[in-house]
Amino acid sequence: MRDSIMTIRKDLGSRLAILAHHYQPDAVVRHADILGDSLELARQIDGLGAEHIVFCGVHFMAETAAILARPEQKVHIPDPGASCVMANMVPTLLVEAVMTALTRTGAKIIPLTYVNSSAAVKAVCGRHGGSVCTSANAPTMLRWALDQGDGVLFLPDANLGRNTARNLGLGPHTMRMLDIRGQGRFVEPADPSVQLYLWPGLCAVHAKFHPEQITSVRRSDPEASILVHPECSPEVVELADGAGSTSYLIRRVNQAPSGSAIYVGTEWNLVNRLAGQHPDKVILPLVKALCSNMAKITEAGLFATLQRLHTARPVRVDETVTAPARLALERMLHVCR
Ligand code: SF4
Repeated sequence: MRDSIMTIRKDLGSRLAILAHHYQPDAVVRHADILGDSLELARQIDGLGAEHIVFCGVHFMAETAAILARPEQKVHIPDPGASCVMANMVPTLLVEAVMTALTRTGAKIIPLTYVNSSAAVKAVCGRHGGSVCTSANAPTMLRWALDQGDGVLFLPDANLGRNTARNLGLGPHTMRMLDIRGQGRFVEPADPSVQLYLWPGLCAVHAKFHPEQITSVRRSDPEASILVHPECSPEVVELADGAGSTSYLIRRVNQAPSGSAIYVGTEWNLVNRLAGQHPDKVILPLVKALCSNMAKITEAGLFATLQRLHTARPVRVDETVTAPARLALERMLHVCR
């Protein structure tokens, strides 16, 4: 399988680019031209000359690539069924209904969506003067959004929203978790004392990390450091020695002195790869948490995609969605140049 993929890559040369997210398994990552987190991969699209971009990650990432790609470029995903549990927690019509309710009395609410959301939700943000953020630039983008209006609607990850807001010094009384039941009919018009409205979404993988696991590591291995991703709950983040994006976690592990013991609270494929890259350190998962959707992308699936590259239907984003979603993404890329 590996040799067959290498042959196809050699034949296509610079006409093909394979992008992979850090949560992909090693068997896929070894074929990637570019490996990165959401922000790093989004940034790379603009400079790619390849006619075919194969995106090894979940569907919203391939959609983002398709939005940022040039019209003549085709973006493919080995399994279009690789969705994201968190992204699926934000139905577009419900976001529109919540925005209508919050702005009923004239307040200017800026929607800011984590990149882990559909193109349609990014389009809503683009249309309402909002933008997109990743875990790496969430503090910069939330600060930006807070400066644009009377309040921010942060979606879909409530944990990332709360962790980021706390880093910016926002108190708990300035945040409100939305009650989105009943098509948003419980959402009141914006309250001037509230700066941040949180959509009650979360990542099913990072929800597997709990404060008791950290307490247990502290007891059994008091010298070890514990690093977690900000999709974990604020209670977990509070107890950890550090929290940050995927690139932050990688950097911290790379910079740790030889002999360090580090427990990492994020998706297992990344932790496992870091452990292999640092045999002089002890790198362990806080618990083994795998993203079942990321796991839908396999080496066999990548091979099948490459075989039918010229006939396969590429990832398409509705025309009415592309322009406003691109606007939301470009605002982020502009603010975080
Ligand atoms: S790890 Fe969580 S946020 Fe990332 S794709 Fe999987 S479910 Fe979505």
